[in-house]
Amino acid sequence: MTTTSSGRSPTVPALQTFVKETGGWVAAQLEACTRCGICAEACHFYQATGNPEYAPVWKIELLRRAYEQRFTIGGKLRLAVGLDKPISDADLAHWSTLVYEACTMCNKCAIACPMGIQIGPLIHEVRSALSEAGVVPPELLAAVVKQMAEGSPLGMTGDVWDSRLEWVADEWEVEIPRDVQGADTLVVFSSIEVMKFPGNVAAIAKIMNKAGEKWTVSSQAREIVNFGFYEGNEHRTVEILKRVFDGAKALGVKRIVVTECGHAYDALRWTAANLMDVPPGISVTHIAGVLGDFVRSGRIKLKAGAFDHDGVITFHDACKIQRRGGHINEPREILKILAPNAFKEMSPNREQAICCGGGGGVIAIKSADPQRYAVFQMKVDQVRKVGAQTVTMTCSNCRLQFTDGVAHFGLDLKVTGLAQMVADALEE
Ligand code: SF4
Ligand code: SF4
Repeated sequence: MTTTSSGRSPTVPALQTFVKETGGWVAAQLEACTRCGICAEACHFYQATGNPEYAPVWKIELLRRAYEQRFTIGGKLRLAVGLDKPISDADLAHWSTLVYEACTMCNKCAIACPMGIQIGPLIHEVRSALSEAGVVPPELLAAVVKQMAEGSPLGMTGDVWDSRLEWVADEWEVEIPRDVQGADTLVVFSSIEVMKFPGNVAAIAKIMNKAGEKWTVSSQAREIVNFGFYEGNEHRTVEILKRVFDGAKALGVKRIVVTECGHAYDALRWTAANLMDVPPGISVTHIAGVLGDFVRSGRIKLKAGAFDHDGVITFHDACKIQRRGGHINEPREILKILAPNAFKEMSPNREQAICCGGGGGVIAIKSADPQRYAVFQMKVDQVRKVGAQTVTMTCSNCRLQFTDGVAHFGLDLKVTGLAQMVADALEE
């Protein structure tokens, strides 16, 4: 189900966006695609369902058609003699189900493509056109509208943030420095952590304090989830990014540490620089890298073997944090300290790992549930194969997908986060 903008055909703004987008790097990518189909087997939605429309190359077909019909002689001829049809409202509605409900923007397809085509970003361009056309799944649109109005898709307003942090500080007996001018590090959370996994907030606070970091959180930069980015709406993406960067600038911090949200990390770390003026002198990194640095430098010490006695533990690689962000080794170094005997790799892993199935906003869209659970079933099979009783990760969106999937299938599997394990194993 999709919503459309009222009054005029949604194909008009969609085509305008396609034309605008295919002027540069997109055209080169589309020209380089040989349509070999190799990317299909890399996509977990295609693997899990066998639906040929879930092949990555098919998800960008609308973009390719728009490009060829407007810019290539062959495309114009095909259109003129009726071998191709103009893009219609029905096409937009159909591709909306493909690119929002069956793509997590994980970009694993790009590493399989022999031509090096960045299919994930191209699918993002399709989302941008559909966003311009107003052909966005209603739940996703509702979440982004709520985020623009209240600052958070999960209703984490300023008051909710204040009371939630006070509660976390009391409940876990941990100090959480708030809005501290001149702190070195701004730690930014997603509302998924604050509202659904508050223990993660407490864990990261405990670790930061233990490491002696001069850190703070910011009420202005309280939400890093970016539903504008999921939607493919540049204006909203930037508005949400600005709230975080403005909060960092106001406090005069030197770096932003993004906690457990893979898409937010992507948006803040890379996308922001392409869309807006990012304030100079503020680096962006991920908590997985920070944990690794703290352990390597001896700023925190962990109880060796602390998690070696509760059965096999495996690690889920998050697409945006491990494959995109490169934080592949730090979690493994930490797990080899915490559980040298119990830690076992599921397969595939590292860059080749498959997505949990809930990223890219897919988990927010009810009609995507069948394929989301089908993908999760593949992940469960990998976890079972390695005999794990616990799965840990560095992304709270993945954790939400795992928690939901475990409940849906009635599995006996413990789902946790790496920061939480580290906090629980800190040497006093
Ligand atoms: S693998 Fe690359 S070249 Fe082949 S169809 Fe997919 S995107 Fe095109
Ligand atoms: S980005 Fe990921 S989910 Fe989307 S088509 Fe590529 S492999 Fe599939």
